[in-house]
Amino acid sequence: KHQRSKMPVYPGLERFTLLEKMGDGAFSNVYKAHDTKDDRVIAVKVVRKYELNAHQRANILKEVQIMRQLKHPGIVQLYDFSESDEYYYLVMELAPGGELFHRVVKLTYFSEELTRHVIVQVAQAIRYLHEERGVVHRDIKPENILFEAIPIIPSLPGFKPDEEDKEDEGIFQPGLGGGGIGRVKIADFGLSKVVWDEQTMTPCGTVGYTAPEIVKDERYSKSVDMWAMGCVLYTLLCGFPPFYDESIQALTEKVARGQFTFLSPWWDDISSEAKDLISHLLCVNPDERYTIDQFLHHPWIRSGESPIQSNT
Ligand code: ADP
Ligand code: MG
Repeated sequence: KHQRSKMPVYPGLERFTLLEKMGDGAFSNVYKAHDTKDDRVIAVKVVRKYELNAHQRANILKEVQIMRQLKHPGIVQLYDFSESDEYYYLVMELAPGGELFHRVVKLTYFSEELTRHVIVQVAQAIRYLHEERGVVHRDIKPENILFEAIPIIPSLPGFKPDEEDKEDEGIFQPGLGGGGIGRVKIADFGLSKVVWDEQTMTPCGTVGYTAPEIVKDERYSKSVDMWAMGCVLYTLLCGFPPFYDESIQALTEKVARGQFTFLSPWWDDISSEAKDLISHLLCVNPDERYTIDQFLHHPWIRSGESPIQSNT
């Protein structure tokens, strides 16, 4: 592509040749880059340190500290961290397939099988975070779930890719294609939080002296990821989010009341097991909301002993 000449140059990042922009956020750009030292292609998140106040800078360091503890096939791995006077650089594993968000938008919605294939992987990564690392992600959404490779996704009946989509080679083949559907990885630990003490494997605080509200707080923290999983699951199956309103105030009200419906005709042909699972995630009372283990044991999840071939 012709983008190489337009790539910015960052001090201290000379080892990497920036290849293309993968995404951006409020204070950062993420680039695909060639690591000339290790001769591999990676992702580097360049954070504009100079735009951040002390609190925001501390948050980036926390994001890095949390990511350093994580090693799981469903989570983007942090390889390296460095900084210059003006920037932070997070060198990570590249997820070349792009955002789940992008795929749903292009396909309109996912079949139940494909949705299961994706959400089970997300759930396994969340299980690792919650149960093995004591970490709550707190920003689970289709923009932060990335495909490891450009996925080959079976077209839905009647779906016609437009001209631009056809350039996305391989995605819109009917049937399962040769390569199957790739793995997904969770990214963006910018809002994540540790709810366990690393050493003692107990809720943060001194062993035996932990107050009940802290123990509860740990459970509540984890339940925010489960709510988000419910929103992602809902969105994948129908192509629009469970809660929406043009007005932020009205939207906030709907969320606070947990006011959503399985809108006809979009939900008419979706299984009652899928709806049941969503209802156990999008429940306002966090004590009633499914935990990650309950999620993984739900009949809708278990009914799909990999009907779709994975290429990994
Ligand atoms: P922010 O905190 O600004 O949302 P993210 O870490 O989510 O930053 O990165 C922003 C976007 O950059 C993501 O939504 C995704 O499109 C892209 N991106 C982030 N990390 C990677 C990666 N490891 N591989 C490929 N693309 C990535
Ligand atoms: Mg993000």
